[in-house]
Amino acid sequence: IWQEILDVVEEKMGKPTVEAFLKPSRAIINKEDNKLTLIVPNEFIKTYIEQKSGKLKNIIEDILEGENLKLSLEVDESIGNLSQEEYLENNNKVEKNEQKGFLSKYTFETFVVGPGNRMAHAASLAVADNPGKAYNPLFIYGGAGLGKTHLLQAIATTIRSKKPNLYILYITSEKFTNEFINAIKDDKINSFQEHYRNIDILLVDDIQFIAGKERTQEEFFHTFNTLYESGKQIVLSSDRPPKEIRTLEERLRTRFEMGLIADIQPPDLETRIAILQKKAEIENIDIDPEALVLIAEKVASNIRELEGVLTKSMALCSINQESRITIKHAQEALKNIEDNKLNNLPTMDEIAIAVSKVMQIKLEDLKSRGRKSHQANARQIAMYLCREMTKNSLPQIGEYFGRDHSTVIHAYERIKEDINKDQTLKRIIEQIRSFLKSV
Ligand code: ADP
Ligand code: MG
Repeated sequence: IWQEILDVVEEKMGKPTVEAFLKPSRAIINKEDNKLTLIVPNEFIKTYIEQKSGKLKNIIEDILEGENLKLSLEVDESIGNLSQEEYLENNNKVEKNEQKGFLSKYTFETFVVGPGNRMAHAASLAVADNPGKAYNPLFIYGGAGLGKTHLLQAIATTIRSKKPNLYILYITSEKFTNEFINAIKDDKINSFQEHYRNIDILLVDDIQFIAGKERTQEEFFHTFNTLYESGKQIVLSSDRPPKEIRTLEERLRTRFEMGLIADIQPPDLETRIAILQKKAEIENIDIDPEALVLIAEKVASNIRELEGVLTKSMALCSINQESRITIKHAQEALKNIEDNKLNNLPTMDEIAIAVSKVMQIKLEDLKSRGRKSHQANARQIAMYLCREMTKNSLPQIGEYFGRDHSTVIHAYERIKEDINKDQTLKRIIEQIRSFLKSV
């Protein structure tokens, strides 16, 4: 049936459409729920198939109807260069094959180096070239969407291609925590430990999330030591440096600081332009340089968002059946995002939750009378953000936190002043803002 789809689409819409949109995709048929799932390599293709006046989608659905199948679309960026057969095979092995977690588009070739990430990049390359011997552990930290996951995956992919016999595990700290909890629940701690202690290269993404989880930290401490002592490479990422991860056990903090700590700072304009150019080149996108610069100028602090605007511009361009992204598409895409932001003002509850998550403090402590300095600080930050990000009045904000409005003014003034002097404070506030964006 897949071949039939390819043939019919080629006949009705021409070979380029097939080459560009269907050849990179994979089809999985599930007879049980009468579904054909089309796995496509990126959001852009998904949008294209769904929109494009519905034409491509209609053609496919017509064919499927004859077989009594429904169409569903999914994005899986890891399909990369796998053929239809390889993809199916991989998919059957599924989950157990950890290697599948590597996203092939996150490589060193696609990573653009600039002043903000030069050191993290160089350290990652060194580790990929010489695992266990260059820097151990390598600890990379930086704000959301600045390329931490990209670098970890690039290290994993590089080592895997050079030394296919090594057991490489990329995992998020949340997944590690869940696996550990399940192992306890199912009484499989021994096999959990054995599994983790046989790893040659361990890459743990977003390690800050093990903060506050005592037993997970304890387990991770032992895993870390076992691997470290036998010279195995460990790479960690976090949104902040070890010394700023609260409720992280001291002995773990010390371990994390034993190797190299490299930070990633937001990209400057030139780097942002270079990233967009690279992306356009990889995905074969035709874009006006003017449009590209406009996007790079407007989206400054998060590369994921930068890519998002490019994708959005592409979608707008293809919906209008145009072949080149111009300043018009870029403006429209940026406006869309602005509108979303304006209409999606966070609520005070959302701000409070974000502050409590990022600053690792209990929600109720934000409203309590507690005077511990970390609590008071978090409370002032929350008030500041409520003043900056919502339309609530000072008395309303005061009431929410159980204080009067002069306390709110005081908090607002203090944070506003300190934010320019205090890098840590500045970074915390950026983290809270990106947390709010991500939910
Ligand atoms: P983080 O893990 O730090 O939140 P990611 O690694 O997920 O960020 O990066 C977000 C997006 O930005 C990804 O699509 C990634 O490929 C892209 N990206 C980040 N840094 C770069 C870079 N220096 N060059 C090219 N793309 C980048
Ligand atoms: Mg990440």
